[in-house]
Amino acid sequence: MDISVDLDAPAIALSICAHPDDTEFGAGATLAKWAAQGTRICHVVCTDGSKGTWDPNADITQLISTRANEQAAAQRILGGTGSDVWFLGAVDGELENSAVLRRELVALVRTIRPDVIFGHDPWKRYRLHPDHRAAGFLTIDAIVAARDTFFFPELGLTPHRAHTLLLFEADEADHFEDVAESLPTKVEALLAHTSQLRSTMFINDPAAPEEARRFADETRRHAADAALDARRRAADAARKGITPHPGVAAIELAEAFKRMRVD
Ligand SMILES: [Zn+2]
Repeated sequence: MDISVDLDAPAIALSICAHPDDTEFGAGATLAKWAAQGTRICHVVCTDGSKGTWDPNADITQLISTRANEQAAAQRILGGTGSDVWFLGAVDGELENSAVLRRELVALVRTIRPDVIFGHDPWKRYRLHPDHRAAGFLTIDAIVAARDTFFFPELGLTPHRAHTLLLFEADEADHFEDVAESLPTKVEALLAHTSQLRSTMFINDPAAPEEARRFADETRRHAADAALDARRRAADAARKGITPHPGVAAIELAEAFKRMRVD
């Protein structure tokens, strides 16, 4: 397997995820790194996030609006405008790769015209959450439809071909982004999803700094594991005669992706 490291920062990057906070977990540090280099970063969130609470008495309408605001805040922390965030509004937990949603995504891709698109890896094995599988397939199918002329011609939008798709939560990672500089920004963006601190970040007391520190340490360990994986995969490739990318030896903190060409 050919291992690559560090794409050039694109002009426009678009991440398509199932729930508010998925993009920050999967690609937050890469987006923050690129935004600092001038990339316009855009988020599409497929569902309304309405299952994201453990509180049986939660006001769901309020939760949906809170999570939308948190997503905009997180996007601003990563270096976005806060307004380059779109919600497809599917019910959380019931996302399907439907023609209606594909059409909406195609319209967005043809309007935003990203160079790089991020999405969930739908082929990741033993994945629990159905929305992550559905969002992955929805993203990939929409990329193909956005690219080719005779899909949804009634939209009246010029087809668009991104050059690269990067799948996060990758089952077989083969592309790594060095995130040593931007990892703290990823943590900060994740902590902006305050309604999710307990359920996804296991922070029981938001006022306790040691809990946020523990979460930051865990995120750092995860990035160190990804970098170790990069070096191991590059060593495997080298044994098979594939020259490793020069950046891989020095990488210490990474986000990992499956890289797919779109053409
Ligand atoms: Zn999710």
